[in-house]
Amino acid sequence: MRKVTCPCEQTFSVEIPEKIDLDRNPENYDKLIEGNLLSCVCPTCEAVLNLDLALTVSWPSKNTIIHMIPEIERLALVSGKLSVKKNSSYVVGYAELVDRIIVLKENLEPVVIESIKYHLLQKAKESRTKTTPIVFFEKINESGELEFHIHGIRENEVAVTRVPKHLYNSIKEDYIKNPDKEDYTALCNGSYCSVRNVLIEDSPNA
Ligand SMILES: [Zn+2]
Repeated sequence: MRKVTCPCEQTFSVEIPEKIDLDRNPENYDKLIEGNLLSCVCPTCEAVLNLDLALTVSWPSKNTIIHMIPEIERLALVSGKLSVKKNSSYVVGYAELVDRIIVLKENLEPVVIESIKYHLLQKAKESRTKTTPIVFFEKINESGELEFHIHGIRENEVAVTRVPKHLYNSIKEDYIKNPDKEDYTALCNGSYCSVRNVLIEDSPNA
């Protein structure tokens, strides 16, 4: 049981897991992807709450343990103030967790996906947005392309970008040959691999 405080100030306990195992309980996969794993309804005001709580996802068949930490702990993680567990990877916030789980489900390499996101964000920056766009891997579509969704280029709109699989394959090949290249190492802060570790520079001709 975990204690939750609703914006209406009601505090209550909910049956929300702190750990899940996707091999043992595969039904949690859909729940997670659909965004329902960490949500509950306030018994007083009946608002649906999407909780920013920590969650550990074990996925032995993928050789993976992922610790999702809440958004408020991002700074502690990237500055090294959070004590991190060995042999596991970290994500910040639910959206990053969903993204990473789909990447692993599709047998894709997280570093390569983050590297593609970096290029997509650089391109998005050319459209001189007021907000900082963020990008998530969505799926592999029927044509075998990698589909990414970019939020924040235009208000209340999601831009869908498709990346051909051969482009992914060629970046992956480069990554396997040169894993120590700064393009890749810059994306990873210890066990936290995310494009958010890299500042997207303003392009000089924008
Ligand atoms: Zn409430």
